[in-house]
Amino acid sequence: MAARAELITIGDEILYGQTLDTNSHWISGELDALGIKVIRRTTIPDHEDIILKAFEEAQGRADMVLITGGLGPTNDDLTKPCLCKFFGTSLAMNNDVLDEIKTLFAHAGRELSELSKLQAMQPIGSKSISNRVGTAPGIWMERDNTVFISMPGVPHEMKTMMSERILPLLKDRFIKGHLRHKFLRTAGIPESRLAEKIKPWEDQLPSHIKLAYLPTLGQVKLRLTSSGMDAALVEKELEQEAERCRPLLEKYIYATENIELEHRVGQLLREQDKTLAIAESCTGGFLSHLITSIPGSSDYFMGSFVPYSNKMKEQLVHIKHETLREFGAVSEQVVLELAQNVRDVFGTSIGISISGIAGPTGGSEEKPVGTVWIAYADGEKQEAKKFVFTKDRKLNIQFSAMAALNMLRIQLE
Ligand code: ATP
Ligand code: MG
Repeated sequence: MAARAELITIGDEILYGQTLDTNSHWISGELDALGIKVIRRTTIPDHEDIILKAFEEAQGRADMVLITGGLGPTNDDLTKPCLCKFFGTSLAMNNDVLDEIKTLFAHAGRELSELSKLQAMQPIGSKSISNRVGTAPGIWMERDNTVFISMPGVPHEMKTMMSERILPLLKDRFIKGHLRHKFLRTAGIPESRLAEKIKPWEDQLPSHIKLAYLPTLGQVKLRLTSSGMDAALVEKELEQEAERCRPLLEKYIYATENIELEHRVGQLLREQDKTLAIAESCTGGFLSHLITSIPGSSDYFMGSFVPYSNKMKEQLVHIKHETLREFGAVSEQVVLELAQNVRDVFGTSIGISISGIAGPTGGSEEKPVGTVWIAYADGEKQEAKKFVFTKDRKLNIQFSAMAALNMLRIQLE
């Protein structure tokens, strides 16, 4: 049976809606990927009795309890005193931790404050987990076969500590054999349709191989997980299952490793020795941002325009005044001209363009909010496609960029 975990996030600000509990979300995903079953998540206020009660209850249900927040040295930080109470112990100066904190401050050229020194006070009988990017170390304590792990609330500190220190410890402790994942990255197909398509394959999967659908904007990531004593055998079996699934999804699969769509597009451009230029309007540079977030993208990405106004569409990308007047900026004709012209201006093999109505205003009956035209042009071929996404501005921007990447990917493949 999989080991069971409970998460407890502590902080008034989470309950009052001032802080979004991204810690739980992230930790859940990491534990799930390890094969650990998260059975409950609890958010509680900075209140001693409530914290102690939550510890008590979680202890009875879970093999491990992961706690974030309230680990600092100020009066409103109650996690350490509560752990001491719960474990019937008290705080004592941990000199190893103190040395680490001193080094951290010396490195930053800052003087060590009394308050920061308090971070080195650790519950007697606990194991301290170093914090490479902050001053509050994590705390590992055990009682009646349940492990309690307390981490800082600050997300990047928690993530660094989890990734580098805690996940490996949990793996050693709770995972038998070798755990392996295989990913199938898909784009351009909604989760429900994808599920229908792969049902015959999913139904025949052996029960020890777990399948997870992990949807993100415009994409669904399929993750196969299995474990066993022979790592090579586990990998081979996952590989075989992935290959069985492939023909059911064909062009929707863009990678059989865990990479982003912009990464795949970069690989294809590089392999084919092609260059890219972009004219993106409603996405305001977001597509260019995705492309350039891949190291080495300067090899194939020559640049982009964000011609947001009609005037700039004419001036920068030489869109004909008549085309804009006759069809409007959000139209097949305009995106086709944009893609061809930006290709000419930058002298690239390929031009991509996006023009749409991100919202919340600016829609009409004929072109509602979320209407987006995307075009592709190379020397021989050109193609424009219309999408109608959502009413939400931010989502529309993200969906548009994803759709453009996917269109480019399909052309290149
Ligand atoms: P510090 O030593 O900085 O006081 P701490 O462990 O005491 O850290 P908190 O004081 O509870 O942690 O939270 C620090 C900051 O981390 C908060 O201001 C909040 O923005 C963020 N934070 C806390 N809990 C969460 C959470 N569950 N999800 C996302 N962010 C969080
Ligand atoms: Mg705090």
